[in-house]
Amino acid sequence: MKKVILIKYGELTTKKDNRNFFIRTLKKNILNKLSNFKFDIVDDYYRMFIIPNDEDIDLIVDNLKNIFGIHGIVIALMSEDKSENSIKEISLNMMRELDLKTFKVETKRSDKSYSIKSMDMNNIVGSHILKNTNYKVDVHNPEVILTVEIRREAVYIYNTSIEGLGGYPVGTLGRALLMLSGGIDSPVAGYLTIKRGVELYYLYFESRPHTSLEARNKVISLARKLEKYNSNGKLLVVNFTKIQEAIYKNLDPSYLITIMRRKMYTIAEKLAKRYNCLAIVNGESIGQVASQTLSSILSVNDVTNYPILRPLCSFDKLDIIEISKKIDTYEISILPYEDCCTVFVPKHPVINPDLKHIYEEECKFDFEPLIEEAIKSVEVVDLKEKISDLL
Ligand code: ATP
Ligand code: MG
Repeated sequence: MKKVILIKYGELTTKKDNRNFFIRTLKKNILNKLSNFKFDIVDDYYRMFIIPNDEDIDLIVDNLKNIFGIHGIVIALMSEDKSENSIKEISLNMMRELDLKTFKVETKRSDKSYSIKSMDMNNIVGSHILKNTNYKVDVHNPEVILTVEIRREAVYIYNTSIEGLGGYPVGTLGRALLMLSGGIDSPVAGYLTIKRGVELYYLYFESRPHTSLEARNKVISLARKLEKYNSNGKLLVVNFTKIQEAIYKNLDPSYLITIMRRKMYTIAEKLAKRYNCLAIVNGESIGQVASQTLSSILSVNDVTNYPILRPLCSFDKLDIIEISKKIDTYEISILPYEDCCTVFVPKHPVINPDLKHIYEEECKFDFEPLIEEAIKSVEVVDLKEKISDLL
């Protein structure tokens, strides 16, 4: 008899054609995240089993809780002895360890050659527990379900399931480029995108010396928090100073944010193409600030045909904050270092920008060379490397 970890795939079950690819990717992601541990891993169409050393189980389960594509995690007892008596005894001992009142037995018999049918096994195990404990059966609303999975190689018995993160395995749906500022929203937008199986690269616009090294380190720390769910992401840092100064010195101040964001999107699209990202993601939420009215979004989006994903578009700020606390980015995001968007904030940013006026303004300065230069000098930050951890 041995403790094993059983992994339930959840939403993957809806992906008939791609199922094997999803399972393969999930397995690769698990092996990647658990590279510090020794264990055996076996998968089939319905389940994955990890057979670890006993002392590693809790740590492995903690790691599995951060992997998308896992719906449920179960610590089960595996016994190669599939006899009725052995199953009865293991079940009884397991139920005795809990201090609850009602239960129900559910047998899953994937080994069709096994002689006892599922319903009969439910009765056999259920009666044994009733006879030897004070439990009562409640088939509709039991406090605990005891599951007996009879497979070809062994029987697996368990009564608690830990919720997984759900979603799809990272990397099954391509790569996207997340515009990552130091704020609360964009890391949450990134997390929700990773959840859908999309791998991320990160893009940060900095305006040194107007923004500080601390502001950059803050973004690195946020990207690292997201790397817990993502894997092998790269952070691209664009030097945005000259572009921002050119807008500030030459164009209508009330359009500063709109035009600055247009330049960000233009650069983001070029970098997305260079790094094989199929979409750009950002943390915009409709109505949150002047640059996030529908007409602002329209006039900024006008520079690109690339798909821009806005996972937070309909979220309330409080809901965003709740997720940011859950993923442990909130405390970093609220550190007070200035972002490039907050350095040159105009007194009265336009709320309904006019595209014709934008085009006229943009003719006043030739941004092309500066954009080229910014793209050429993009810095790629290795997220695995240690920085002098300021945060
Ligand atoms: P956040 O909390 O994510 O900073 P915000 O509410 O402050 O968002 P804005 O400053 O209008 O909103 O930015 C909207 C989105 O644009 C951000 O969520 C982020 O995706 C992107 N963005 C803003 N500033 C930067 C930056 N310096 N580098 C990269 N992306 C940025
Ligand atoms: Mg911001």
